[in-house]
Amino acid sequence: MAYLLRHTLSSTGRTSLSTMRGTAHSLRAFSQSTVARVDFTLSDEQKAIQDLATKFAVEEISPQAAHHDQTGEYPVELIKKGWELGLVNTHIPKEYGGLGLGTLDSALISEALSYGCSGIQTAMEANNLAEAPVVLSGNEEQKKKYLGRMTEEPLMAAYCVTEPGAGSDVAGIQTRAEKKGDRWVVNGQKMWITNGGKANWYFLLAKTDPSANAGNAFTGFIIDADTPGISVGRKEINMGQRASDTRGITFEDVEVPVENVLGQPGKGFKIAMGAFDLTRPLVAAAAVGLAQRAMDEATKYSLERKTMGKPIINHQAVGFMLADMAIGIESARMMVWKAAWMRDQGMRNTYYASIAKALASEVANKSASDAVQIFGGNGFNTEYPVEKLMRDAKIFQIYEGTSQIQRLVISRFVADQFK
Ligand SMILES: Cc1cc2nc3c(=O)[nH]c(=O)nc-3n(C[C@H](O)[C@H](O)[C@H](O)COP(=O)(O)OP(=O)(O)OC[C@H]3O[C@@H](n4cnc5c(N)ncnc54)[C@H](O)[C@@H]3O)c2cc1C
Repeated sequence: MAYLLRHTLSSTGRTSLSTMRGTAHSLRAFSQSTVARVDFTLSDEQKAIQDLATKFAVEEISPQAAHHDQTGEYPVELIKKGWELGLVNTHIPKEYGGLGLGTLDSALISEALSYGCSGIQTAMEANNLAEAPVVLSGNEEQKKKYLGRMTEEPLMAAYCVTEPGAGSDVAGIQTRAEKKGDRWVVNGQKMWITNGGKANWYFLLAKTDPSANAGNAFTGFIIDADTPGISVGRKEINMGQRASDTRGITFEDVEVPVENVLGQPGKGFKIAMGAFDLTRPLVAAAAVGLAQRAMDEATKYSLERKTMGKPIINHQAVGFMLADMAIGIESARMMVWKAAWMRDQGMRNTYYASIAKALASEVANKSASDAVQIFGGNGFNTEYPVEKLMRDAKIFQIYEGTSQIQRLVISRFVADQFK
């Protein structure tokens, strides 16, 4: 509200204090008349989507989560089932065979799936990330071909931007694409690519004009994964979310037809970054799902475990840890909903998407760590579910923009209001 108010005031230009008081007065009257428009209830359809995803997470994903965590085995069967239920590729428009769900609908699904296992959810979610640039900037043919394909069979896709030498510093990526006749030839190395070894196609960002500024130097491409010259590295052994497939990918003289350029050559940076407005609320939703799972596990345990003659939940120090989890989860979920809702209304949500991502990932880490604390020695052991949650939670502060990068985005918006 403060942000919106300030924004409204600053957009009217320089204002004297008395005019501001007048504006504030009239805004107060205005806000009273529109109070009823703030509505946090889900539609019947959204409740059905949420119920379906929750049932799938609890009955199908959750029982398999420990196995995939321990073995690192890619959850092919679960992804297939999720795809059949319509829980994967949620934002593909109806014209291309998808369900055309909104960002808020998708966020409900992400939260629910992540409650079952955030590693398995990440494997599914990475499709949304790879598809987002195509949804936002693809032409009719590209959408029909590459989005349509995803709705015909349970395929995976991957978003290839990060490199060994550049993650946060996207403008520092070195993969090159050079135009040769009716082809672009790609050379370079990508790193930490989710679904890297499973993808049917990649979204790839490459430098096409080294002398230009970031806004004009990069181009986005769609590349079929079976194109000659692509080599996929080993599956990385990560701290958590081990069901997900993370790999390095090398591109050596990979020929890409001109029709696979996304948007205009040179304008890829904006396309790659624009995807995050759509996907960061979903990553944040997944972090909320993990935090909720941590709170539920810790609450159940603390009602059963007794010390000094009473269930540990009745020791205020323990009860307050649960209360802090609840405070964090409820706040983060509201911020996810706001960021997602804005996107669905066609409003720019970059600022709120970054707040949601930063907040939810911190809530997930604190909640998982406190859940381990509440479980005591058992919390440190793989027989109990919370140590996995703690390992899984960390990545939420790193991928799709670290918590520091979210703060960079947020602080720029804050500063812009006074420029
Ligand atoms: C499991 C996993 C899955 C991933 N999936 C994908 C994927 O599918 N596709 C993809 O393209 N990438 C993916 N990534 C990459 C991920 O997005 C990057 O790791 C992340 O953006 C950080 O980049 P970096 O690792 O190069 O760290 P760096 O950019 O080197 O950052 C190192 C540290 O410095 C901080 N830092 C850097 N710059 C600044 C700054 N300007 N101000 C303040 N602090 C700063 C960072 O916050 C971080 O703490 C994945 C990574 C992992 C681990």
